[in-house]
Amino acid sequence: MRLHASCMATMVTWVAVFAAAGRASAATVWLEAELFRDVGGWTHDAQFVDQMGSPFLLAIGLKGPVADAVTEVQLPEAGQYRLWVRCRDWLPEYSPGKFQVILGDRTVERVFGQNKQKGWAWEDGGLHRLPAGKLTVRLHDLTGHYGRCDALVLTTDAGYRPPDDLKRLTADRIAHGGVSRQVKDLGPYDTVVVGGGLAGTFAAVASARMGCKTALIQNRPVLGGNASTEILVAPQGDTTREPLDPGEGGIIEEVRGSEEGYSERLLKLAQAEPNLDLFLDTHATGVEMEGKDRIAAVLALQVKTKQRLRFKGTIFIDCTGDGAIGVWAGVEYRHGREPRSMYHESRAPEAGDSHTMGGTLRYATQLRPQPIAFTAPEWAHRFPRCEDFGPSRHPQLQFGGWQWVIEYGGVRNTYDDAEEIRDELLRIIWGMWDHAKNHCPKLRDQARNYELTWVSHVVGKRESRRLIGDYVMTEHDIAKQTLFPDRVSYGGWGVDLHPPRGFYDPGPPAEFSHKVKFSVPFRSLYSKDISNLMMAGRCISVSHVALGATRVMITCGLQGQAVGTAAGICKKRQTTPRGLLQSYIGELQQQLLKDGCYLVELPNSDPRDLALGAKARASSTAPPEALKTPTLALHPLNYPRAVMFRAQGPRIEKIALHLVSQHDKPTQVTLGLRAAPELGDFSATTDLARAAAIVPPKHRGWVEFPLQIDVKPGYYYAWLPPVPGVGWSLFDRPPADTIRAYRTAKEWHVMPECYTFRLTPPGDVPAAEPAKSPPRETMFAAGNVNNGFARAIRGWPNAWRPDPKQPMPQWVELDFGRPVTFNTVHVSFQTAADRAVDFRLEVPEGDAWKTVSSVRDNARRRRVINFERTKAAQLRLVIEKTAGDMGVCEIRVYDEP
Ligand SMILES: Cc1cc2nc3c(=O)[nH]c(=O)nc-3n(C[C@H](O)[C@H](O)[C@H](O)COP(=O)(O)OP(=O)(O)OC[C@H]3O[C@@H](n4cnc5c(N)ncnc54)[C@H](O)[C@@H]3O)c2cc1C
Repeated sequence: MRLHASCMATMVTWVAVFAAAGRASAATVWLEAELFRDVGGWTHDAQFVDQMGSPFLLAIGLKGPVADAVTEVQLPEAGQYRLWVRCRDWLPEYSPGKFQVILGDRTVERVFGQNKQKGWAWEDGGLHRLPAGKLTVRLHDLTGHYGRCDALVLTTDAGYRPPDDLKRLTADRIAHGGVSRQVKDLGPYDTVVVGGGLAGTFAAVASARMGCKTALIQNRPVLGGNASTEILVAPQGDTTREPLDPGEGGIIEEVRGSEEGYSERLLKLAQAEPNLDLFLDTHATGVEMEGKDRIAAVLALQVKTKQRLRFKGTIFIDCTGDGAIGVWAGVEYRHGREPRSMYHESRAPEAGDSHTMGGTLRYATQLRPQPIAFTAPEWAHRFPRCEDFGPSRHPQLQFGGWQWVIEYGGVRNTYDDAEEIRDELLRIIWGMWDHAKNHCPKLRDQARNYELTWVSHVVGKRESRRLIGDYVMTEHDIAKQTLFPDRVSYGGWGVDLHPPRGFYDPGPPAEFSHKVKFSVPFRSLYSKDISNLMMAGRCISVSHVALGATRVMITCGLQGQAVGTAAGICKKRQTTPRGLLQSYIGELQQQLLKDGCYLVELPNSDPRDLALGAKARASSTAPPEALKTPTLALHPLNYPRAVMFRAQGPRIEKIALHLVSQHDKPTQVTLGLRAAPELGDFSATTDLARAAAIVPPKHRGWVEFPLQIDVKPGYYYAWLPPVPGVGWSLFDRPPADTIRAYRTAKEWHVMPECYTFRLTPPGDVPAAEPAKSPPRETMFAAGNVNNGFARAIRGWPNAWRPDPKQPMPQWVELDFGRPVTFNTVHVSFQTAADRAVDFRLEVPEGDAWKTVSSVRDNARRRRVINFERTKAAQLRLVIEKTAGDMGVCEIRVYDEP
C-alpha cells in the first residue's frame, strides 16, 4: 500500500499574482490559513469544505486563547496593500471567536470574527503600507472560543474584493494559487472508494484482496469515521447472538478490539494491502461523468496541501455517509422520513418530512487532585436547573456512553447545516458542564475536582442522505427477517430511532424495536441510476426506519466487504453491479462465505471446495451432553412469553401451541389474547380472552386453547405466564408478519425467530412446523465439518468436538475418495474462545501420516493455511491443544492458483 497524505512535501503557503485581469500592475497575495508554516495552537478543520469551500483554522482553547499561527509571505513589491480576511462570526449574538492579524511587527487594528454577519464573510482589514520581500504573518487568537479563519488576501488592487459566492471564490482561489492550478491525474483505478469509516475501509480492503487496483479516499487524518480516535463511537452489530454464535465474520474479525484502537488497526489493515492506495486528508469534491449514467472520475482536494486530484476509475463506491458521490452524480436520493403511506411502516410518521436523527460531539473530563473552577462563557447554553434537561439527558461526570444523548441537527439539514449543527452541540456541552460544576445540587460537590479536558470538534453523524438502489429496504424486511435471494450481508441491531429534536425532545432519547437478525440485499447496495456506483454504510438504499437498524458500524462494515468483493467480481466478469446481480450473485455470495462472512442460512456450495464431497470421520466424538449452552429450538416458560401475529377475522376458534412438558403429571396452562396496534407493539395490558388447556405428562406436541372470540382484522398477541417444567417450541422458519417476545419485570423484549402457533380458522397465517433439531447423536459428529455451515445455528453447535474424556491429540479426517491436489485449507472453529490453540494438518504417506502444516498459539476463530501443493486422498486436522469447548465447524480444502 502506498500512503498519500499530509506527509507529502509541504507546498508553498502563499502565492503572489501580478496582472489580475484588467488590473495590469496590481499584486495580490493569497494565503490559506490552514497552510500556515506553523499553525501554533490552532486546529485544522476540514469538515465543511462542501458547504463553505475550504478547510480552515479553528481556535479551540479550553483554557483560553491558543498560541499564534505563523507563516511568511513574499511580497513582490512595496506598496499599499489592503488586507482581506475570510472568517466566521459563528454566533453573532456573542461573537465568541475573536482574533487579530499581525503583519510583520504591527498588529492590525481590526479584531476579526465579530462582524455580526451570518455565515462566512470577507472582513476588510484596512490598508497597510508594506515593503517588498519577506513578511511574517500571525493569527493571534483572543478567546480560545472557536475563532475561525479560512484565508487572507493582501492586494494592491484597490478595486479587488474577494468574492463570497462559492463558485467565484473557488475560481479566484485557483487563479491566485490558494489551491493548485493543476489537477493531478491518478489511476486509472479498478475501484475508487470514498469515505474511510468501517464501511469504506472494508470495501477498499475487500476490493484490493479481489485483485483490484483500489484507491481509498478519506478526508480525515485517520480511518474509522465515527469509530475513529476523533469521534470514538464503539462499533456494534448483531446483538441477537445465540449461544455459541461467533458474531460477524470476515474482515471485522481481523480488527475487532478496543474502542480506542480502531483507527490504528484499520490503518494497519489497509497498509498491508499491496493493491490499495490510501489517501488520508483527501476530500472528494465532485465527480466527472461519462454520459449520464457513468462516473468517470472523482475529483478531490488534499486538504493539507491544497493539491487538486482526479481519481479515474471503473467502479466507484460511496461510503461517505452523506451519499456525496451519488448526489454529485445526479442519482435519486432521500434525506428525511418517508410518510407512513409509502411503505406502511409502523414507525414512519403519518406525514413525511425532511427530519432525520441528529449528530453528536463527545467530550472528556478528568479527576484532578485539586478543585478546578469553571466559568461558563456567555455563549454557552444555560441550564440552571436539573429540570432543564429532558429524560435521560441530565449530565454525568465521567466520560461515558451516555454522551450519545447530546444529539442535535435532526430538524436541520444534516449535510447543508453541518457547521451550525456542530456549533450548537458545542453550546450544549459547555452549558451542561456549567450545570454540573456550578448549579447541579446532585453533582456540584463531586464535580469540584473534575476538569473538562477535551471537547471533540468533529461531529459524529447518524443520518444524512440515502441513495436509492434497485430495492429500498424497509421496516418490514427487518421485522419479517426477509431472506432475500440476493442477500450479501446481515445485521441484528434492532430499529433504533432517535427523535429529530434530539437533546431538546421531551421524550426518550431513543426507541428500539424489532431486535432480530435481518439480511441486506445486494440490490440495496448499488445505485439504480448510475451503472458503476455502489454504496455501503449510512447512505445505502433503505427507508429512514430501516436505517435505524442497518446504521451500526459493524453492520455497515459487512456491507462494505460485500460491495468491495462485488467490485472484484465486476472486474473479473467485465460487468456492472446490476449485471452481477443478474448473472453472478451466487458467485458473490459464495466468495463472501469463503472469506468468512455469514449470510443468514445460506450454505457453502462452492464447487471449488474439495471438502464438500468428502467423507468425514474422527478419532472420537463428544456426547451430546457435552453441550453446556441451550439450543434455541425450545424455550422454557421461565418468563412470560408471547407470539404476535396478524388475524384476518372475523373469529378465532382456537389457537394451538407446540409445547413440551417435563412433568409426570398433567399441567394446566392459561393463555391470554391481546390486541396490538401494530406489529411489535406489546403495550396492551388487557386480555380480550383467556383459555386454559392441559399439557399431558411428558408431552411433546400441539396443545389447543379454545379462545372462541370474534376479532377484527389486525395484530394480536397470545401470551403464556411462567410455568415451571413447560417449554414452548420455536418454528423452524418464522412465518411472515409474526414476532415473538418475552417479558421482564418492566417490559416486553422482542426477539428473533418465532414461537409455534396454529390458528383455527387459519386465516392467512401459513402452516409452519416446529423447529426440528437434528438427531442429538449427530450434535458433535465429524460430518458437521463439511455440511456447508461454518458456525452454530440457533444454538445448535454444528461442529465436530472430540470426546473430552479422550487425551489429546484428537483428529478429524476428510476422505476425498481419490487423490486430489490442494494447497490451502480453511478451518473455522466454534468461536474465538472455543478454538484449537495448537493443531496440524496431515496427509497419509505410506503407513504413516506426514505433517503438511502446523499452527501454534492460534488466537483466531478462523484460519486460512497455505502450504506446498500436495496430492492426497485424505486430509487430517489434528488437534493438539484446545481452549474452551473447542469445536471445528468447517474445513474447506482448495487448490488455489
Ligand atoms: C453519537 C453516535 C453514537 C452512535 N452509537 C453507535 C454505536 O454505539 N455503535 C455503532 O456501531 N454505531 C453507532 N452509531 C452509528 C454509526 O456510528 C454510524 O451510522 C456509522 O458511522 C456509519 O458508518 P459509515 O462508514 O457509513 O460512516 P462514517 O463512520 O461516518 O464514515 C464516513 C467517513 O467518510 C468520510 N467522508 C465523508 N465525506 C467525504 C468526502 N467527501 N471525501 C472523503 N471522505 C469523506 C467521513 O469523514 C467519515 O470518516 C452512532 C452514531 C453516532 C453519531
